[in-house]
Order: sequence, then C-alpha cells, then structure tokens
Amino acid sequence: MISSVLVLGLCFAAFVITDIKGYKEREVNHALSIAQVIGVNDIPAIQFLDNDAAGKTLSELQKVQEDIVNATIFDKNENVFAHYTKPGNAPCKFYPPFVDRYLFKDNFLYVYKTITKNNELFGTVCLQLELSELQQIKDQSFQMGGVLLLIGIMLAFLLAMINQQYISKPILSLVNVMKEVRENENYNMQVPIEGKDEIGKLSLEFNSLMEQIILSHQKKDEFIGIASHELKTPLTSSKGFLELLNNNDQLDPQTKLFVQKALNSTNKLQDLIYDLLDVSKIQAGQLQLNIREFDIDKLIDECIHEVQIGTSAHNIIKEGGMVNAAIFADRGRIEQVLINLLSNAVKYSPKGGRIIVHAKRTESKIIVSVKDFGIGLPMSELEKIFDRFYRSKQKESGTVGFGLGLYICAQIIKRHNGKIWVESEAGNGSTFYFELPIKAELVITI
Ligand code: ADP
Repeated sequence: MISSVLVLGLCFAAFVITDIKGYKEREVNHALSIAQVIGVNDIPAIQFLDNDAAGKTLSELQKVQEDIVNATIFDKNENVFAHYTKPGNAPCKFYPPFVDRYLFKDNFLYVYKTITKNNELFGTVCLQLELSELQQIKDQSFQMGGVLLLIGIMLAFLLAMINQQYISKPILSLVNVMKEVRENENYNMQVPIEGKDEIGKLSLEFNSLMEQIILSHQKKDEFIGIASHELKTPLTSSKGFLELLNNNDQLDPQTKLFVQKALNSTNKLQDLIYDLLDVSKIQAGQLQLNIREFDIDKLIDECIHEVQIGTSAHNIIKEGGMVNAAIFADRGRIEQVLINLLSNAVKYSPKGGRIIVHAKRTESKIIVSVKDFGIGLPMSELEKIFDRFYRSKQKESGTVGFGLGLYICAQIIKRHNGKIWVESEAGNGSTFYFELPIKAELVITI
C-alpha cells in the first residue's frame, strides 16, 4: 500500500507539474505574440514620436487581453515612450536588459520583446501579465489528484487484501505451524500445499524438513534403545563382580574405598541406562505395566527410607497420616516415580532441610505430594520440566542430569490414567504432585 501511494503521489506531482508548465508555456507564447503585434503597430508612432498614439494602442490592450496589468514601450535609448496600467492596479517598473526575454515572478509573467524592422531597433515592448488561471489550475489539479489518490489508496487496499489472501495468509499459517513445532516439539505438523508457486515450494520444503526431523528422531531413539540394551548386560555383570568384591572382608581399606567408588559410579551408570531403556520403551509404546493391588502407605515408607539413607543433610518427613488404601497400579513403576521425586527434592535442595511427603485419598483417587524448600523453578519452566531431556535453565541448579527422570515419571503416571503436576516458585522450593485412580477398572493403560 505504501509503495502504491508513493507511486500515485509521484504520478500526481508529475501531472501537476506538466499541467502548470503547459499553462505557463501557453501564456508566454501568447504574451510574446501580443508584444510582437504591439511593437509592429507602434513603429510609426515611435518614428513620429507620437506618444499619445502609442499610449492609446496600449490602453486598447485591455479589450483584447484582460490579464495585462502593465505595459510599457521603451524607445531604443531605453527611455519610457508610452505606458499603460490597468485601472485599479499599481504601476510597475521594467528593468533592463531590454532584450527578448520573459520571467515569472510573484504570480506575474514579465515579457520583453524588442521592436525591430529590417534589422533596425526601434525600442522594446514590456508587458506584465497576471497569471490568473494559475491558481485555478493548481486548485483543480489538487482536487483531481486528491480524488485520484483516494481511489488509488482504496484500490491498493483492495489489492493488499487480495494479496493477503494469496500470499500473507499461507505464510502466516506456515509461521503458526513453525511456532507450534518450536513450542510443543510437535514434528508431526504438516502445512497444506496450495499451488506450485514459491509459497507452495516453501510449504513442500517445510513438510519434508519435518519428515526428516521425525526420521532422525526415530534413528536417535533406535540408537539409544540399542546402545542402552547392549550396555545393560556387561554393566550388570561388572556391577555383580564389584558387589562381590565389596562384600569381601579381606580387602585393605584403600582397595575397599576404590571398589565402593567404582560401585557408586556403576550404579549411576546403571540408573542412566535404565532411564534410557525406559525412554525407548515409552517412545516405542512398549512400556508394560504390571498392575496389581498394593499398600500405598507401605510403598511411601519404603521410598522415604531408601532416599533418606543417601542423605544426612535432609530430613524426609511423612505428614498427614496413613492413607489406608490399597491401590491398583504397577508397584515397581510407582516406586520409580516416588524415588525420582524424592531424589530430585534432595538434589535440588543443596542446603539440605526438610522434605515433606503427603498422601491423601478421595473417593476414587489418591494424591501424593513431595514438597521441598530448595531452589524452586521459575513459572516459565513449570510446563516444560516434564518434557524429554528438559533441564532447568537456572544457573543455581548446578547439578548433573539428563532431564529424563520427570519425563519418565509423567509417562508412567499418564499410563496409569493419572495426573502429575508441580507448584513452584524460583528460590522458594517446589511441590510435585501425582494423582492415581484407586480402583482397578479406572487404570486404563494405553
Ligand atoms: P534431571 O534431574 O536429571 O535433570 P529430571 O527430569 O528429574 O532430570 O528433572 C528435570 C529438571 O527439572 C531438572 O533439570 C531440574 O531443573 C528440574 N527439577 C526437577 N525437580 C526439581 C525440584 N524438586 N526443584 C527444582 N527443580 C527441579
């Protein structure tokens, strides 16, 4: 629209300038021919020094040309020979050089025309003409230009709207899809391909890019699955040997320390491999649940005990009493979720302190929460932390990890037809909640 208005404006300016120029040219030619006629007719009067006759010719001018305001005939010595001023107007002075020329000044045209016959100079006729039509022409041009500009703007607006339909709209829809892909990592998104033009090509390329991303994700998942599976067996056997060594009382203290360190590292490695195996099972839709009835209070106590052994800086407390509910779920997997939440509560409370576990039951559900008073999480990250490989951007977290634990927890709870969420504030600790159906028929595993 801006370019259309600019082009229209330029065209309009060119049109006005040409119009005014044409009018001025016409006026000059006309005035010159009048001056010529006056000069030729007044040669005898000049020759016989008859000022009155010349003056009369000049005053007669008014009848032919109303725009003439002043007219002066100079003799060849540049002295005023005859002069006329239109009644009601101020007389004007004409200045040398008295040669054939014209000039525009203050809405007046000044014309100088020498009077010659057979190459003999008799004097100069000077005319001052009022450019009365100039303002009219300007006004008309501006009115017409304004109307044209308005029509042009409306047309440009209409074209812009049509353009929007065919160009901007598909681009905007592509931008929206890209935003959705970026925000939700949903690579299954495709854009409709309309036409074979540049936008069609862009959409086609975008779709194949998405397909390629999905393919590379599949390859990566496949690799993670195979690699973790292949690592599992040798790691289990070396862990077994290390445990045997650790149980050997005949080891000297330094060797025992080394064995314990090796065992710790092996345990961490094994945790990671199990996490990776779980992730590939989830990705492949092969996470099997072994649903049976168990006592949730007992499981919570066991998990608290297990995590408490690993830390002396934290005090893990159970609040709210017993739930007294036997729930139908995969005990091993729910234990995994609880251990994960409790370990995170320890890991992200570097200054130590209390960790509160709370469980309650409603008619059909149990709700378990793990509250810590650690580094907390900013609002912007609350939704993302359950995503695969997501780790907090907070510098204070300063811990190592892969961002898989909460993803696995969320998937396990989802498979139990439950819900997981977090309430947190940066610097003020976090509370992680999960909710599970109590009754077996509600545990619909997907
Ligand atoms: P990891 O701990 O291995 O990074 P998780 O999936 O368990 O992976 O956690 C994902 C991210 O969520 C962590 O990187 C951490 O930033 C954040 N997080 C998890 N639990 C807590 C918590 N209790 N307090 C603060 N941040 C947490």
